[in-house]
Amino acid sequence: MRIILPQNVKMIIERLRSAGHDCYAVGGCVRDCLRGLEPHDWDLTTSATPDETQAIFSDLKTVDIGKRYGTVAVIIDGKPYEITTYRSDGDYSDSRHPDEVIFTGDLRDDLSRRDFTVNAMAYNDEKGLIDCFGGIDDLKNGVIRCVGEPDKRFTEDALRILRALRFASVLGFSIEPETSRAILKLRDRLKEIAPERIQTELLKLLCGDNAGFILRRYRTVIAVFIPELVGTFDFDQNNKHHNRDVYRHIVASVQNIDPDPVLRMTMLLHDIGKPLTETKDRKGVSHYHNHPTVGAAMSAEILKRLRYPAAFTSEVCTLITNHDIRFKPDTVALKRYLSVFGVECMLKLCKIQRADLLAQSMYKREEKLSNNTAVTDELNRITESGECYDLRMLAVNGSDLIHMGVGSGKMIGDILGELLEKVITGELNNDREALLEEAQSILQTKSDD
Ligand code: ATP
Ligand code: MG
Repeated sequence: MRIILPQNVKMIIERLRSAGHDCYAVGGCVRDCLRGLEPHDWDLTTSATPDETQAIFSDLKTVDIGKRYGTVAVIIDGKPYEITTYRSDGDYSDSRHPDEVIFTGDLRDDLSRRDFTVNAMAYNDEKGLIDCFGGIDDLKNGVIRCVGEPDKRFTEDALRILRALRFASVLGFSIEPETSRAILKLRDRLKEIAPERIQTELLKLLCGDNAGFILRRYRTVIAVFIPELVGTFDFDQNNKHHNRDVYRHIVASVQNIDPDPVLRMTMLLHDIGKPLTETKDRKGVSHYHNHPTVGAAMSAEILKRLRYPAAFTSEVCTLITNHDIRFKPDTVALKRYLSVFGVECMLKLCKIQRADLLAQSMYKREEKLSNNTAVTDELNRITESGECYDLRMLAVNGSDLIHMGVGSGKMIGDILGELLEKVITGELNNDREALLEEAQSILQTKSDD
């Protein structure tokens, strides 16, 4: 089995070897190469200690990533290569960190501390592929399997529970039965894991091709850190627009949208407010008025708790709040929405609504789909045409009004808003002279009031 190593990686391995140490590419990069993919970064493992590594690369920039854990990065052509000393981890008393790490001269020790067999392979040109735990077979068969005893490995570091789901989702692999049983049994230990570690794994999981299956099969694991989802499990929607319970609808909608972190997270949380807002009409049919607002408030809490960046949280919550607006392919109405939300947000809302409706029953499916297509087409037409829908596109601005003698900021905003509305409705062209004249007349009316 041969892997084509990049020149810089070969150079690192060669230099360490000349100094009397072993060095291998290891982990994710080996796994990705064997799957025929280009790795996004290259990690190396070596028998040299961090100090020895730094000395060997003293002519290059090195960064102490965590020398205590054995990791030094060497920067070549502006790109970091992480080099970690072979290590085995001591006991874990907190489900998170090893109490101590022991540097060892043995590659096998290092491979045995790694999480899954497919992530526990090493390679260099001299020794070829080192696969002590059956990683190559598991890769061929599409299996995520713990290195060693699953109960022990998940107890040591509970994040591995979520990493198993992440790799199964991204790689489209199944989870080996013993590993799967231990995941379900030990899931509560995820409570001990820092939210920062959970949030990155969760986004990767959500963006995987196989996210739908994993979210369904392991819903109780996801509920450990998003317990708000439990209310949606098996919650009958009792409405002809739906043929799935709320959680199954959520999962289908996640699977229906582009693998983009904001969009996938929005789908995961978009209907989380439904169980709390259910009302029944006289015919016994359920409705969920206000569920977008309630859901957005719940999502803000959830995303804050998981420490997502404020901008991410705010975008997801805006999309959830507005996911149920009934847009029509009407130019004037869409321009008004564009002036409030902007193009990017409007196009995302269209994608969200499409993913949402494709996860609903067939009731009025064709009608909903063709409306969604018409709205999207009209939004694209408006934005490509250069027609004005936004204050920033108006042929006059605040300084023109100041020039005209308008003093108050509020008055400037009001007048510009009125002008924009007239341009959007077609009452006025977006023409500077005409707008200035209209501004004068609005000003006159306002000062007469
Ligand atoms: P990605 O493509 O997402 O970077 P990766 O496999 O490289 O995937 P990393 O999180 O970058 O994943 O970790 C690098 C390697 O370190 C893994 O392949 C695995 O061997 C090991 N590893 C990472 N996290 C853990 C953990 N929590 N427990 C045990 N081994 C781990
Ligand atoms: Mg990696």
